[in-house]
Amino acid sequence: MEQTMNTTVMRQTNRRRVCQYIYESVRPVTKQEIAGELSLSLPTVTGNLAELLEEGLVSCSGTQESTGGRKPQTYVLNPRARVAVGMCLLDDGAQLLAIDMWGEELGCRELPIPFAHTPEYYQEIARHLEEFIDSCGLDRKRLLGVGIAIPGIIDQAEGRLVMSPTLELWDIPLEEIYQHFSHYPAFIENTPNASGYAERWANSGQTNVVYLSLDRGVGGAIIQGDKQYMGDHGRGGEFGHMRLVPNGRQCNCGRRGCVEAYCSTSRLSVDLGLTLKEFFAQLQAGDKQAAAVWEEYRAHLTDALVNLRTCFDCDIILGGALSPYLEGLLPEICWELGEKTLFDGDSFFLHLDHFGSHGASAGTALRFIDDFLLTY
Ligand SMILES: [Zn+2]
Repeated sequence: MEQTMNTTVMRQTNRRRVCQYIYESVRPVTKQEIAGELSLSLPTVTGNLAELLEEGLVSCSGTQESTGGRKPQTYVLNPRARVAVGMCLLDDGAQLLAIDMWGEELGCRELPIPFAHTPEYYQEIARHLEEFIDSCGLDRKRLLGVGIAIPGIIDQAEGRLVMSPTLELWDIPLEEIYQHFSHYPAFIENTPNASGYAERWANSGQTNVVYLSLDRGVGGAIIQGDKQYMGDHGRGGEFGHMRLVPNGRQCNCGRRGCVEAYCSTSRLSVDLGLTLKEFFAQLQAGDKQAAAVWEEYRAHLTDALVNLRTCFDCDIILGGALSPYLEGLLPEICWELGEKTLFDGDSFFLHLDHFGSHGASAGTALRFIDDFLLTY
């Protein structure tokens, strides 16, 4: 009995390793390469490949083995063999994003539906989700799950949304949201954590990185190597509520002087009656008022960044709605960091995000892909 169990576990482990090797190779690989790299016998690899082909996870091209001048058979992942959907719920709208196993976008839909914690709202989102799945041509049998990113602090152990100042929610059971998406495996997480996860994924998990999300809400994520540091209570990376200014501006969380009160994108848009695009157009056109607002914003942002750099001593990725506008402004931000840093010349540690405004939806969907590859 034990022997049978061990054999089954070993077969699954080998199949998973072959699948992961083909996945990570990206380019087509031969049976011999797989066997050589993974130190497996050719018959074992042949058996694993037969199963992967049958499940549609890999495709094969070429003809016979490399004899008689024929092209050797090669195997490549079929990236659409499994797909995942990420959803991002914000106060003024929602986003749906479908990705394949390589994180390529298969479709994205913006829903201008204001958030409301009511059954009607979730039912409407669920209806749009079904339409979206159909419009992307996704096979529901291949859909690994639906990730839901929410801008708030989430206690996974207790299954509760502790607080979301952006959505004006306090202490909500996650089940009140899950129940509307129960026909798919679903996972709810904090928006900046999801975006940070996507950025770690894009960076291949090789480096320590802090992710700072600049949206109407400000948050972040701490990534150590290939892991995300969540803290003892799942609140790690709540950078938006570090205090920058004692008795400063009122923050959405009810306290004063938080990073979010100064670095929310609302400072550059809603508070001025502008869109971000309009604000940066004015700034670029040399508008003096826009320049003064930006200078104040930048001063607080660089204070926050220097604090993060001092705490974590690693590169920082800037993401969220602001990042598309920051490319041309990075030199001046870095110059200001150089003026403020404790460490001489330590000012070139900033990067802009990879996924842009799709980061949270992509990140929460990518978790399903990674889980699949780890447990397949
Ligand atoms: Zn706050």
